[in-house]
Amino acid sequence: MTSMATGAHAGATAGAGEKGGTAAAAVPELERDIVIVGGGSAGLAAAIAAHDAGVASVLVLEREPQLGGILNQCIHNGFGLHTFKEELTGPEYAARYVAKARERNIEHMLRTTVLDVSPGRVVTAVNAERGIFRVRAGAVVLAMGCRERPRGALNICGTRPAGVYTAGTAQRLVNIDGLLPGREVVILGSGDIGLIMARRLTLEGAHVACVAELMPYSGGLKRNIVQCLDDFGIPLKLSHTVVNVEGERRVEAVTIARVDDHLRPIPGTEVRYPCDTLLLSVGLLPENELSRQAGVRINPVTRGAFVNDQLMTSVPGVFACGNVLHVHDLVDYVSEESAHAGACAARYMQGAAGLAAGEKDLPGAATELAIEATGGVRYTVPSFVSPGRMDDSLRLRFRVGAVYQNRYVSVYVGDRRVTHRRKPVMAPGEMQEVTLRRADLADARPGDVVRVLLEDE
Ligand SMILES: Cc1cc2nc3c(=O)[nH]c(=O)nc-3n(C[C@H](O)[C@H](O)[C@H](O)COP(=O)(O)OP(=O)(O)OC[C@H]3O[C@@H](n4cnc5c(N)ncnc54)[C@H](O)[C@@H]3O)c2cc1C
Repeated sequence: MTSMATGAHAGATAGAGEKGGTAAAAVPELERDIVIVGGGSAGLAAAIAAHDAGVASVLVLEREPQLGGILNQCIHNGFGLHTFKEELTGPEYAARYVAKARERNIEHMLRTTVLDVSPGRVVTAVNAERGIFRVRAGAVVLAMGCRERPRGALNICGTRPAGVYTAGTAQRLVNIDGLLPGREVVILGSGDIGLIMARRLTLEGAHVACVAELMPYSGGLKRNIVQCLDDFGIPLKLSHTVVNVEGERRVEAVTIARVDDHLRPIPGTEVRYPCDTLLLSVGLLPENELSRQAGVRINPVTRGAFVNDQLMTSVPGVFACGNVLHVHDLVDYVSEESAHAGACAARYMQGAAGLAAGEKDLPGAATELAIEATGGVRYTVPSFVSPGRMDDSLRLRFRVGAVYQNRYVSVYVGDRRVTHRRKPVMAPGEMQEVTLRRADLADARPGDVVRVLLEDE
């Protein structure tokens, strides 16, 4: 365990705020105002905001040996343009937040895995120093990030040789462990991590034959297609998928084929690529096992929690932010959203702003308006807003279901259109946002729905 804290909650053994440490078989129990699960970008931003809002004891629990989360393996630049107005690498961006947490003596425990979060906000965790222990929390912020969709979730035909990696695993092998996973590579999926790894592997001396993408559009940011594929002459094959993997011990070849409008491979379009490595960059899944255990209602579209404008889940006092809530493109937005979650968790803890524990504050309560994603919009975060409690403005983040050109993003409150803004291009790989003002909801009646949709004119 590492602790930056020097105050009352800093002790590694039973001390202030810790109960039951003496009985041999008893599970030690601590108490903290706010417990944050995950010490990545989201967890750190939430912890800093909660501390700055005056919360006395904030504890971050992180299973890895260092803070910073996935950014520690993202050594390319392009991070922080919004937050710091400069271009940083992932580790540099993370280090800024670690330094801010350190300046504030925010307590954290590393190599500490959270095993369970109860609906009553008791967090059960384990580490080598304490064994299993519990922390009673006034509020909990879920910030566990996401994981990559593996081969097992894809139904790819062929043998099961070594050499099939998720793009994130390859990123870790190259950037942290200094190992090149292969020399001749095919990448399936054009998510951002796959695009970035196409460039990285090329720079490290491997040859990337192509990136195959099932959909007729890329799942990644436009800037990554230009900078990571086009600049290196790596072909992007849209509407293609892997139909066979060959090899006994190690991958020897991968066959890709074009797919039709129903995403079925078209016979006769197969092309075989001799290679030793197949990377998968086919989507990220929010890590919500703990959220489910806590009884948090999960949105089937985002696979993250349903939250209200305070980023509170359906369980009182349990908040969610970052990639565990919905997969983000840019860490800057993760930090911004998570600072909001931390500040709201602090308000909940302090019983301020009408956020005391109670049914009325939960997402979907009678005092809240549902936010409905429709007409080309797949989801919004948050899903509920309280006109009586929201800040002066609320950023609604959303993704569209296909590529759209010259459409209007419209927001209706009941039958009244309050926003109508033209966007030249929108694609599923790029998160969108629209601002809802408190004034827009001034005339809203109970039961009104806020609808976010795309319109032709
Ligand atoms: C492989 C990969 C590469 C990426 N590359 C980029 C990129 O190049 N540029 C970009 O802008 N974005 C990138 N992203 C998106 C990036 O994840 C976000 O921008 C942001 O860093 C997410 O922050 P987070 O805190 O939500 O998640 P994470 O950074 O993943 O942090 C979550 C933390 O929670 C911890 N945790 C999870 N479960 C538990 C538990 N049970 N107990 C204790 N701790 C737990 C994890 O160990 C982790 O440290 C990438 C994502 C992935 C998965």
